[in-house]
Amino acid sequence: MKLLRHGAVGQERPGAIDADGRARDLSLLVPDFTPEWMAADKLQALAAIDLSRMPLVPDGTRFGVPVAGIRQFVAIGLNYRQHAAEAGLEIPREPIVFNKALTSIAGPDDDVELPENSVAGDWEVELGFVMGRTAKKVAVADALSHVAGYCLSNDVSERDWQIKRNGQWGKGKSFDGFGPTGPWLVTSDELPNPQDIPLELAVNGEIRQRSSTADMIFPVAEIVSYLSQFMTLLPGDLVITGTPQGVGLGMKPTPQFLRRGDVMTLSAGVLGTQRQRVV
Ligand code: ZN
Repeated sequence: MKLLRHGAVGQERPGAIDADGRARDLSLLVPDFTPEWMAADKLQALAAIDLSRMPLVPDGTRFGVPVAGIRQFVAIGLNYRQHAAEAGLEIPREPIVFNKALTSIAGPDDDVELPENSVAGDWEVELGFVMGRTAKKVAVADALSHVAGYCLSNDVSERDWQIKRNGQWGKGKSFDGFGPTGPWLVTSDELPNPQDIPLELAVNGEIRQRSSTADMIFPVAEIVSYLSQFMTLLPGDLVITGTPQGVGLGMKPTPQFLRRGDVMTLSAGVLGTQRQRVV
């Protein structure tokens, strides 16, 4: 299924995409897609719903983040071989982990507001995943069974705050709206292999990033297992898995950063598309 939440900020209702690609409202049957709805038995119950009988969501309705009440937002850094190369950094021996503030999470098409005086805003198209059940010290072989589904995220970054303000990276990645996520969550039964997803990001129509999750250094199964060795992952937790080459910071001969008025467009195959205006 493709699960989504639609409506104004703070008033989102659950929904899903039907066989014809139209959004249907599920609020008559489900209060909201809270973390407990990410459990396998709940997802199976959702899959049994005849979407064609559910009300259509009007065209143009805003989409929010597909899961409500996310409790942890974890990110992986430098997880693509060619991105590590453009950053001039060695391939990490273990995953680089940082946190983004929960308040940075936004809908897939919400405006991205740069902080005052910011001149180093940057883009990062990423594969995200949402946990379906608690993961504590899980093995790589068992890891993907803990994942409820996958989504598209933009790990918007302010490089001066990230790099020049004395650590940690989260400083540059936690501003309100710096985590657009959605438009929907593709449940993992429909995406058994998350390592073959195309990723693309353009700024003002010019392609900046074009890659595939096949280039990831640490695939999703290894990330889940690794994180679960030192922290307990909870249902509904959102993890984003690193960005491929082509960020503004890596552009030669000089880095190029976001300006107010720019438009970022992202796509990731079955995970859908995003569009954000920079304000
Ligand atoms: Zn990132």
